[in-house]
Amino acid sequence: MVNCHVVLLPFTAYGHLIPMADMAVLFASRGLQTTIITSPLNAHRFSKSVQKTANFPHQIALHIAEPKAPEAGQPPLDDTSISQESIFGFREFVSMLQEPVEQFIQESRPNCLIADMFYPWTTKTAAKFDIPRIVFHGTGFFPLCASESIRLYEPHKAVSSDLEPFIIPHLPHEIKLTRKQLPNLEAEIFKEFVEVMMESVEVDATSYGVIVNSFSELEPEYVWHYREVMKRKTWHIGPVWLCNKILDDKSERGKKASIHEDECLRWLELKSPNSVVYLSFGSLVEATASQVFEIAMGLEACGESFIWVIKNEQERSLPEGFEVRMKALGKGLIITGWAPQTLILDHESVGGFVTHCGWNSVLEGLAGGVSMVTWPVMAEQFHNAKLVTDVLEIGVSIGDLEWSATASCDGVKREAVEKAVAKVMGAEEGEKMRKWARVLKEKAKTVVEEGGSSYLDLNAFIEDIKTFKSKQ
Ligand code: UDP
Repeated sequence: MVNCHVVLLPFTAYGHLIPMADMAVLFASRGLQTTIITSPLNAHRFSKSVQKTANFPHQIALHIAEPKAPEAGQPPLDDTSISQESIFGFREFVSMLQEPVEQFIQESRPNCLIADMFYPWTTKTAAKFDIPRIVFHGTGFFPLCASESIRLYEPHKAVSSDLEPFIIPHLPHEIKLTRKQLPNLEAEIFKEFVEVMMESVEVDATSYGVIVNSFSELEPEYVWHYREVMKRKTWHIGPVWLCNKILDDKSERGKKASIHEDECLRWLELKSPNSVVYLSFGSLVEATASQVFEIAMGLEACGESFIWVIKNEQERSLPEGFEVRMKALGKGLIITGWAPQTLILDHESVGGFVTHCGWNSVLEGLAGGVSMVTWPVMAEQFHNAKLVTDVLEIGVSIGDLEWSATASCDGVKREAVEKAVAKVMGAEEGEKMRKWARVLKEKAKTVVEEGGSSYLDLNAFIEDIKTFKSKQ
């Protein structure tokens, strides 16, 4: 077999880092020599992935690159929360590894460099060493097509108010958004972030190709649209998290969960199928104190059993005695910190998911066969939410929401929470959505098995990069 060396450069945010770590396992499982470049402070986040490949022909190698020293006031490169400081000096933040990455590529001459979208400089780096740069956006085809269509045709400029809906032009479905659901990054603090994003968009078209954590049966029209209309060379190889087969791998992704998986499973096993709703806002979004209170009141009013992930300190915002009451009734499990999300979503007791619609959460939810309440907050989450509600029809929206530049989830009343949760958990509408979600769940499982569409596209990817040099 011709040796093939793939180098991955993940971004620090969990929503990008976790799927890239899974992708590395997937490559190693196909016998590819796989290296993840990371910084000393981030290296431990990949150790679990490295362990998973211990018995493969090539274990994943970590190349620990020493980043450029942060400038005064700049956080070090392990800032997974993408704090105010890293956003403020974003260009510097995403360039810290440029020199050591170039040195590594020069010395090791891999077959390709798969780099996150937040490292636009890698397209030039790859060109310098005559290897393909593959972009990883961390999202799916539908949101990629929607964002590009809005960027190209600016339909939001043709409406007279922030509340008037516009149709995203030239998409296979009629998708409506309002201006207030689009990113608003005009504040000075986002200046460099926006510049890097614009650069990323520009180099996208000149990069060799795009690798996507999705599968064709999920969004076939958008795979076609991205390839044929937007003219991107692309491979769909997901859901990449399905490379995690054993319990331990499912329970520890990105970081150790704040609850032991046995405790979580014991709680779930006492529940009947599809009777539990799971609520999580991912790694970055935070509910305000008043929103935490309203969610609690809504959950108590609707009476469904739930697992709810809250961030540290948010316990203080819960109604008096709420956690104790829910625990005593066996109604609710609150996880403060980090949940074993895929383990939970995969459990048959879980039937519904209240989600901020990060791409990974959407994929994990549908691979768990659950119906969803969509509660998008920022990034491309409003697009992902539309895929769930308007295209796949496996979820309902929590209400009329606004894009948040501060990653905060706020303004939804308890009645809306109660109504939406009751709907997705219900025997009629909820079950109808779950029925289709279960079909997607089965498809998700088969596409990554030998002969499945993602399996075959990964073959095509490997073949393409192996033969790249001879095409020059
Ligand atoms: N995640 C987790 N436990 C948590 C919160 C998040 O395992 O308590 C994982 C989740 O399974 C997903 C990733 O972190 O794989 C979050 O990515 P997503 O795209 O859903 O959202 P983001 O955090 O980027 O907003």
